[in-house]
Amino acid sequence: MPHKKNFLLNQLSPDLLSRIALSLVVGPLPQGEVLAETHARINKVYFPHSGIISCVVETVGGGAIETGMIGNDGVFGAAQALDDKVSLNHVVMQVPGEASVIASDQLREIADETPAFRGLLLKYEQFFLAQVQQTAACNALHSVQARTCKWLLRMHDLAGAEIPLTQEFLAQMMGVRRTSVTEVAGELQKAGMIVYSRGHIRILDLDMIQQRACECAGDIRSHYRRVFQSNEAGE
Ligand SMILES: [Zn+2]
Repeated sequence: MPHKKNFLLNQLSPDLLSRIALSLVVGPLPQGEVLAETHARINKVYFPHSGIISCVVETVGGGAIETGMIGNDGVFGAAQALDDKVSLNHVVMQVPGEASVIASDQLREIADETPAFRGLLLKYEQFFLAQVQQTAACNALHSVQARTCKWLLRMHDLAGAEIPLTQEFLAQMMGVRRTSVTEVAGELQKAGMIVYSRGHIRILDLDMIQQRACECAGDIRSHYRRVFQSNEAGE
């Protein structure tokens, strides 16, 4: 079943997954596709199989910064669907992929009838909030190089070593000037940690990237493990 490529859907019992599968549609998510605008109602919920969804806070002056990433480890739109709420961020596909998609109303109906499913979605929401808080601290306290390395580690966790991405986009995600990112990317490339070409970054030496990254990628991983421990034990 393709839906099992998503970690959360893979946690469901076969009966529950078959039931939800009746309402799920698998579809492509092209790079740059906007899944939600700030303050807009969310009509669909996305369980990615691949690719990365990026949640971005935009400021009035035209600035933007990424506050959270969602890959095949999570879901976008579920918490909002449960509460009939709007999106708090601009949400866009950063790395293209595929997802199982369900209408928000249908998700809410199934979650209302199935406490185990609702519980799983709320667990992810708890993790996502921890990720956002970690990112806020990281953006304020850590250097651009450490943050870039952390970001590469997180990308690697979710999407692998090949990242289709421009430096301009990376600078926007990190809320820094493009020249700062160009400088850091140049240093990392010189050290043999990455190679980049137009619109593409490839990770060559994960260990070295790990050494230069701040602790935040590791902290985000352990938040995830803590929240989902019971599931990993084979719920
Ligand atoms: Zn950090």
